[in-house]
Amino acid sequence: MTKHKLEKPVLLVATGNRGKQREFRSLLRGLPVVLRFPQDVPFRRQVEENGVTYAQNAALKAQAWAQATGWLTLADDSGLEVDALDRAPGLYSARYAPQPHPTDADRRRYLLSHLADKPRPWKARFVCTIAVATPTGLIHFAEGACPGEIIPEERGEHGFGYDPIFWLPALGRTMAELTPAEKNRLSHRARAARAILPLLAALVAAG
Ligand code: IMP
Repeated sequence: MTKHKLEKPVLLVATGNRGKQREFRSLLRGLPVVLRFPQDVPFRRQVEENGVTYAQNAALKAQAWAQATGWLTLADDSGLEVDALDRAPGLYSARYAPQPHPTDADRRRYLLSHLADKPRPWKARFVCTIAVATPTGLIHFAEGACPGEIIPEERGEHGFGYDPIFWLPALGRTMAELTPAEKNRLSHRARAARAILPLLAALVAAG
């Protein structure tokens, strides 16, 4: 029997971070794909992020998952760079805390403990590199950044990670005080996603 229903292709978003997953669901909404996440596949894949750039780490994640699943795969590597800390925690933003399994709150406290004796403003930026890997081994990149500053007291309930202490001077609010839709208009991840969308659409259309 002829198959009449055209199935949408799959795009795997290779992150276990639920905050990033929520954002990508919305940022990629316009694409004619079925989005999948690591929890949707019946196996686990632990990718060691041993690159020395965001692009290398994003590529490691995207390529490992594209090979394992045979699906077009998007991964991001992101971080917070604080000028007064010589751009730390940067690439190590997820691992930035003394304890083995830190929470986001642990990481924020640890960051603030390093900044306490530095003069304000504590200028900073979020950065994000997205890698898109095809099952045939091609890889594409896009970058985004969002400038702001770190403040010593937490504000806001939205977002994740360092959002409650990341202040956007032009808006007079922290990233965690923005609605998800507002964050998705100006964040580092939103900017990288917007930059990669035309290429993603072309890859999807090409099948
Ligand atoms: P990775 O990209 O998985 O290596 O993790 C990056 C880390 O940077 C996250 O675990 C957060 O701590 C931080 N980070 C990245 N993007 C954001 C964001 O949009 N808001 C707050 N923190 C972020």
